[in-house]
Amino acid sequence: MAQRLSLDADVRFVPGVGPARADQFAALGIHTVGDLIEHFPFRHETIPKSVAIGELALDETATILGEIQRVRSRGHAERSVVSATVVDGTGRCTCRWFHSQYLVDKFHVGLVVRLTGRIELWRDHAAMTNPSWEIIDENEDPLANDVERYVPVYPATGPLPSKRIASIISGLLPEVAPQVAEFLPDDLREKRNLPLRRTALLRFHHPLQPEDVNVSRRRFVYEEFLLCLLAVQLSRCRRVELDAKPIRVSEEIDRRIRRRFPFSLTDGQNRAAAEIRADLARTTPMNRMLMADVGAGKTVVALYTCLAAIARQKQAVILAPTEVLASQHAGKVAKYLEDSRVRVEFLSGATTKGKRSDLLKRLACGEVDLLLGTHAVLEPDVRFRDLGVVVIDEQHKFGVTQRAALRQKGSAAHVLVLSATPIPRTLAMTVFGDLDVSTIDGAPPNRQPIVTRLVTPDLEGQAWRFVRQRLAADEQAFIVYPLVEESEALPLKSARTEVARLSREQLKGYALGLLHGKMKPAEKQAVMAKFRSGEIQALVSTTVIEVGVDVPGATVMIVQHADRYGLSQLHQLRGRIGRGSKKSYCLLFADPSGESATERLNILCETTDGFRIAEEDLRIRGPGELLGTRQHGLPDFKVANLVGDLDLLTQARDDAQVVLRNDADLRDARHAPLRRALMRRYGSAMGLADVA
Ligand code: ADP
Ligand code: MG
Repeated sequence: MAQRLSLDADVRFVPGVGPARADQFAALGIHTVGDLIEHFPFRHETIPKSVAIGELALDETATILGEIQRVRSRGHAERSVVSATVVDGTGRCTCRWFHSQYLVDKFHVGLVVRLTGRIELWRDHAAMTNPSWEIIDENEDPLANDVERYVPVYPATGPLPSKRIASIISGLLPEVAPQVAEFLPDDLREKRNLPLRRTALLRFHHPLQPEDVNVSRRRFVYEEFLLCLLAVQLSRCRRVELDAKPIRVSEEIDRRIRRRFPFSLTDGQNRAAAEIRADLARTTPMNRMLMADVGAGKTVVALYTCLAAIARQKQAVILAPTEVLASQHAGKVAKYLEDSRVRVEFLSGATTKGKRSDLLKRLACGEVDLLLGTHAVLEPDVRFRDLGVVVIDEQHKFGVTQRAALRQKGSAAHVLVLSATPIPRTLAMTVFGDLDVSTIDGAPPNRQPIVTRLVTPDLEGQAWRFVRQRLAADEQAFIVYPLVEESEALPLKSARTEVARLSREQLKGYALGLLHGKMKPAEKQAVMAKFRSGEIQALVSTTVIEVGVDVPGATVMIVQHADRYGLSQLHQLRGRIGRGSKKSYCLLFADPSGESATERLNILCETTDGFRIAEEDLRIRGPGELLGTRQHGLPDFKVANLVGDLDLLTQARDDAQVVLRNDADLRDARHAPLRRALMRRYGSAMGLADVA
């Protein structure tokens, strides 16, 4: 007798699998028996109870149960048609299948079959095209299972069709389902009205009634969210154990900081500043993300935070992901801090050795108040005397390990992360669940709306004419080519050749500049300075301008191959224009051959609401694409959907809080199964090994 299969057993030991099929399962991410039984159907096909052929109604979807009287096949390969005539004593039905030559070997005269499809009329009798089929075993009573049924349809591959997966899973379930144990505490399960894990598993595959699918699915969504949020909140609790030095911002300090800005803060900025002030006053280090659409004024709030620390004799650092951005921050900060006593320094990979070592000395003895820079500030020999605040701009460009490196510089510094990608609430709670979130909604006053248009190849001539008009009117333009950071080598040439071509053709006679990621920092800065001063009229660039670059005179942006980008990224890009007092135009060049691409890009033409755009991106491209990096330890949910399951996410978050409030380390015996499930899922990914 075969040994009992455990949930951890390799899938190739499952009856009907074997080594070759195991490889096919691996392609679906299924390696163990446990993976296999949690491979859930994405829909169920309803197979109605059978109807006598003589009583079939035209155009309805129906099931018939009958005997094959004749099988024929015409044509071959691609063009083949297999047809079978089925009779049941009340009439006959002709069924045809296209591209299913293999059925010739399955069907033969005398077989009893169950067929479901839409009823058509052929000559004088009923017919079906491509009905789903099931052969009834000759020992089986054909009427035994003749009730409305729901047949699971699984994510499948060519060599491993859903039907095959279904039969393997249904053969396996009776043996392994008894091993599936509950790990949710009873009180939570009752409160949320969720079925037992084992029941949910069985009913998800084989519902007895249509509601079973949803009820079972909810159970798995909830458990995925609960585990994720427990992991996130446990790592957040760790931070609470750190001791930060509180930074109290008095009314006087607040007033003094505000006087530095030539405008008053918007409501959104004020709200964020108030939240930050409250955080700074605590002994737990701040870990807050400031999320706002491009141009909403995050830099100002970041500087406010730094100045608060500096007013209390602490140091602050602002870290930007690129040289261009870091030096732009430096430029802005210098302007705001003119004639103040704040000692500001800049550190990047381009800083000379001598200057660097001098800077490090002064930093270590507290003679520098505010350090601006790139990841160069993360190097181990960069030491602060008393680091109070760390600001990380555009954090999703930084890896988790780099964030950790920064933390170590100030034993428990207050951290503010800026994000210009509005992150849908669901993602904020999961991926960035260890951060508190402030949002600034609404742009600074006097912002001009940006008009966005899709430009198909036939309209490009017109678009260039428009660009020339704007340039002639002393406005400026960005022309962006799709160079992804990881593969700059190849397309880089095209930006270079394009700038040459544009200067001969479409933009002949105008001053063009080129900016790309492979240029030396000094070169980049020189180009940016020329563009800011207007000496360069049109800047041909890669996406290095994606974040933060602020040139108020730029009113036009052309994005080449716009269909290659995510919506949020395009939204970021166009945030580079519309920063001055003139109306701005974003022209998305795209070949409309892909219909869904056009539909996607039209969303950008319709709205400038970054949150809506991000939601849309999340829906269409998933969280990895939205955030543009794999460094997040993004939870990879099997069943849960970050867009559609917000209600369950909220419930799971509340429940995770309650669980940890009563049992901070999950040490309670009652929570042992839950803790084991958590460790299995997130133990190594989140470094939670020591929670146990
Ligand atoms: P973000 O970092 O969110 O993209 P910035 O902080 O760079 O935005 O601000 C964008 C522009 O708006 C800057 O030129 C800044 O001077 C201006 N700005 C910011 N806050 C205000 C405000 N409260 N009132 C008027 N202008 C503002
Ligand atoms: Mg900014």
